[in-house]
Amino acid sequence: MLFDLHIHTVRYSRCSILNPRDLVLRAKEIGLDGLAITEHDRCWSLQELAKLKEETGVDDFILLRGTEIESEWRHLLIFNYPHDIGRNTPIKEVIDEVTHEGGVVILAHPFRYGRLLDLSLEELRDLFAPFDAVEILTPQHSNHENQKALLLQQSLQLVGIGGSDSHDIDQVGKCVTYFSNPIRDEKDLAQSIRDGNCRPLFGHQSLEGFAAEPQASSLI
Ligand SMILES: [Zn+2]
Ligand SMILES: [Zn+2]
Repeated sequence: MLFDLHIHTVRYSRCSILNPRDLVLRAKEIGLDGLAITEHDRCWSLQELAKLKEETGVDDFILLRGTEIESEWRHLLIFNYPHDIGRNTPIKEVIDEVTHEGGVVILAHPFRYGRLLDLSLEELRDLFAPFDAVEILTPQHSNHENQKALLLQQSLQLVGIGGSDSHDIDQVGKCVTYFSNPIRDEKDLAQSIRDGNCRPLFGHQSLEGFAAEPQASSLI
């Protein structure tokens, strides 16, 4: 199953111009099986998700939610933990709390702006170790940063996901995550990530050059 796991909408992310209804219809149109809305610092309620599903009439489409929070200068994606977490809560506290409740914590776009690229393999291994997964493919990375992330995923045997970090309709599905088992709800999502039953893919309407790179799979 194919999911876009990193999306912001106008509902709760002021930096986004993406209407939730347009998002769902677009994701369905390009062939995704589901998506996760990950607003900044705020998690949608199940009632809101159900209403969106009803409004868009997408029966066979999985709508999930997560949250993107900022902690110690890093962005973290959190799934299966539908509670607010204060900004700048220390990363260790976030991981302890979320894990205790059955959720997962993913390090988002770690190489954005060329960050971390000068660290050694050992330093990166230590940095990534506390997280359930790392966002490997994202349009927030340059082509070089995505390529580096793919190589590191292999060397360090990381569990990796892909997400579009969409803030507008054109970004939806540009990077996605493939799951080898069925995902019906957030529990399935968290368990599959913990089990490593997922991998990042360059998505529909790949950014220029993405699909041509080594190790990259494409939906096209
Ligand atoms: Zn971010
Ligand atoms: Zn984001």
